[in-house]
Amino acid sequence: MADRQDCAVVIIGGGPCGLMAAIELGRRGVSVILLEERLTPVRFPAANATQARTMEHYRRLGFAEKVRAKGLPPDYPTDIAYFTRYAKHELARFSLPSARAAREMIKTMTGSWSAAELPHRVSQMFVEDTLRAEAQALPTVSLRPGWKMADIRDEGDSVTVEAEGSDGRMTLRAAYALGADGGSSPTRKSLGYGYVGESGVIRDFMGGRMFAIHFRSSKLYDVIPHPRAWMYWAVNRERRAFMAAVNGRDEFNFHVQLRPDEQPAQISDADAKAIFHQALAAQLDIEVIARSVWNAGYTLVAEKFQRGRIFLGGDAVHLFTPTGGLGYNTAVEDAVNLSWKLAGVLNGWGHPALLDSYETERQPLARRNTTYARGFADSAGLFVPPPELEDDGPAGDAARKRTGDHFNHHARFEFNIPGITFGGRYDGSPIIVPDGTAPPPDTINDYVPTACPGGRAPHLWLADGRSLYDAFGFEFTLLRLGPKPADAGAFRSAAAAQNIPLSIVDVVTDEARDLYAADLALIRPDQIVAWRGHSAADAARVLRRVSGHGGAD
Ligand SMILES: Cc1cc2nc3c(=O)[nH]c(=O)nc-3n(C[C@H](O)[C@H](O)[C@H](O)COP(=O)(O)OP(=O)(O)OC[C@H]3O[C@@H](n4cnc5c(N)ncnc54)[C@H](O)[C@@H]3O)c2cc1C
Repeated sequence: MADRQDCAVVIIGGGPCGLMAAIELGRRGVSVILLEERLTPVRFPAANATQARTMEHYRRLGFAEKVRAKGLPPDYPTDIAYFTRYAKHELARFSLPSARAAREMIKTMTGSWSAAELPHRVSQMFVEDTLRAEAQALPTVSLRPGWKMADIRDEGDSVTVEAEGSDGRMTLRAAYALGADGGSSPTRKSLGYGYVGESGVIRDFMGGRMFAIHFRSSKLYDVIPHPRAWMYWAVNRERRAFMAAVNGRDEFNFHVQLRPDEQPAQISDADAKAIFHQALAAQLDIEVIARSVWNAGYTLVAEKFQRGRIFLGGDAVHLFTPTGGLGYNTAVEDAVNLSWKLAGVLNGWGHPALLDSYETERQPLARRNTTYARGFADSAGLFVPPPELEDDGPAGDAARKRTGDHFNHHARFEFNIPGITFGGRYDGSPIIVPDGTAPPPDTINDYVPTACPGGRAPHLWLADGRSLYDAFGFEFTLLRLGPKPADAGAFRSAAAAQNIPLSIVDVVTDEARDLYAADLALIRPDQIVAWRGHSAADAARVLRRVSGHGGAD
């Protein structure tokens, strides 16, 4: 290892992936420098959906409530609603709870929604404010806004990063680097990796260049004669659109697909307002706060997620069409997965081979999630609105009914996705100890809790009202399940001998034992079941395996 190091890990990019990695590493005492080329944060609302699994990670880190308090007011419904035009006919609606109701509802939900948290609908810019504040508060994390990574080199025993800022240049040396630098990722390009998959898909909607405005209007709710919603879709033959409520009062985020002959640079604010008025079908003055252009129609995953000491995460390795709301959430899970492994190696208990499991585990998940998002884009975007959709009379009524049926089905398909959010698995990973059982099928809308090693630890509420996850330790947790806890002494002594941080937690109910179908279960720091069994006899070998040191099944 090089004698002079500025930090253990340099992170390039201060979006959700980079910030989450900084928090995970900082919480483990790892020194981090995060370079972000922008001096001030983006104030454009991109992602609108924080999935339940991401909220569970925020809960684990202690700030889920701060995120849930952001965005829409506590009693604002998070309905998804479809209209011909916002001030005209409502076609379909999927009603979903407010933030306040979500907090209570989750305590009574079972089956697919056996979880510690429900999703939260909030603009990414608000989430990033919380992530930034959490990262900033950690003593070993240094955020450097206004610094751009200009060059990155793996020196074999360290990584060198050249950075440029308004104050000049600096050279940083670290043990590892993470390129969380977004879709155009200079880090990925410097490693010579491209994306594989589909781009340039053309659909009637959600397949092409998209134009977005963030606007203010205190009167919009007055001119929409329908109950409030979080997401408003406009379905008509002139131009389709979607709009998210940003603060529940006067800020909105509106997106349309551009026609091939329309150039974003030539769209004036007056043109943008006219486009919005097409979707609204009412007169209303709006103030355009910001505008942006993005592309829908990507299903792309990078060839590689790592080379040597340099890792890649988030949009740098996967690009989605945002249907399903999976890009930022997948980016957060990349950061969660990589960070405990990096910290384990840096803190001495993880073998360097542990780091190779990052790509082994996350690349298939990226392929899975981008593919699901493409399916949602097809379901919404390939639907062709009937010609009579906006006509008065029976033909129009029938066309609206047909369209409403499609979107009532589609909304539940795209926006009720416990199977995607909880069902991601790491089967076949070298650091998972299989037990010969097969997991349930991977489906979008249903999640079957299972402690089959490789998936999310099944959740339950404890008698004292806490989530089981609140009882987990921050690193590995051994669950002793059932009224007669099995002897865990071998795990305790093997963990001590291998310096692996392990908490032992008893859950003394039959319900817990039945849920896990085992007396003992070893849970990883990212709440994935690493092993389960009835006896601790193999503890030393199990712990060697889950920390990257190999070991037989
Ligand atoms: C309209 C829209 C709606 C979306 N909706 C959803 C949704 O509902 N749910 C969801 O999960 N996802 C959604 N997404 C996707 C989501 O916005 C991205 O997946 C997410 O931002 C990826 O996070 P990231 O940290 O990987 O990358 P980014 O957020 O792109 O962050 C990368 C950062 O790296 C910085 N950077 C780049 N180069 C350098 C350099 N050389 N040096 C230093 N810094 C650098 C950039 O300035 C940037 O801040 C949506 C996207 C769009 C466009």
